[in-house]
Amino acid sequence: MTIAENVAQIKETIAQAARAAGRDPAEVRLVAASKMNDADRVRKAIAAGVEICGENRVQEMMEKNALGAYAGAELHFIGHLQKNKVKQVVGLASLIHSVDSTELLAVIDRCAAARGLVQDVLLEVNIGGEASKSGFAPDEIPAALENASKFGSVRVRGLMAIPPVCVAPEENRPFFLRMKQLFVDNGRKKYDNVSMDFLSMGMSGDYPVAISCGANLVRVGTALFGARDYSRK
Ligand SMILES: *Cc1c(COP(=O)(O)O)cnc(C)c1O
Repeated sequence: MTIAENVAQIKETIAQAARAAGRDPAEVRLVAASKMNDADRVRKAIAAGVEICGENRVQEMMEKNALGAYAGAELHFIGHLQKNKVKQVVGLASLIHSVDSTELLAVIDRCAAARGLVQDVLLEVNIGGEASKSGFAPDEIPAALENASKFGSVRVRGLMAIPPVCVAPEENRPFFLRMKQLFVDNGRKKYDNVSMDFLSMGMSGDYPVAISCGANLVRVGTALFGARDYSRK
C-alpha cells in the first residue's frame, strides 16, 4: 500500500467511525504522526490530503521543517516536551498536544509572551495512571485549568491521552470514555484562556474506538506511513 492509499483508507475509516457514532465526519481531524519518516514521505502524505502533521522530537521537527516538509499543512507537536526545548516549538507548532505539567505550561507562557503570541496547547492526561507515563492525573485537571487561566499567552484548547498499550483496541474503550467524560465535565466550567475544543486520542490500533468515544483529533502513524524502522536510528 502506498502512503496515498493509506491516507484514503484512514480517512474513509474515520468517516465511517464518525457516522456510526452519529457524528459529522468533518469534525474529526487526522494528525499524521510522522516521526522517523523523512521530509519526502511527509510531503507525499500532504500531497495525499493530510492536513496536519504531528511530530514527537524537536530536533527531527526542526530538521524536517528546514527542508520544507510541512508546507501546505499545519504542524502539531505531540511528543514529550522538555522545558529547554520549548523555545524551538513555540510559534512553530500551532498546537502542542503534550503539556504534562503546570511548570511546562508556565515556560511555554513565558516564551510565547516574549514572542508576542498566544500558544495553543492541550493538557496531557495520564488516563491509565501509569508510572511510566507523564501527564496530569484526571483529578488534577480542574486545578491545572484554574492555573492556566492566569497565563495570558497560552490557551488550553482541550485534552490529550495515550492509554496503556493494549492487545485489542476495545480494551481502551473504558479509558477513552473516561477521557470524554473529563473533557465534558471540565468544559462546563468557564476559565479564562481555556476553551475545551479538542480531544486528542486514538492511534493506528484504536482510532475508530477513540472516535466512537468522542475523539476529534486522532494521531495516526504506522497505519499511514507503515512500520517505523527503529534500527535506523
Ligand atoms: C507515534 C505516536 C502516535 C502514532 O502511533 P501509531 O501507533 O504509529 O499510529 C500517536 N501519538 C503519539 C504521541 C506518538 O508518539
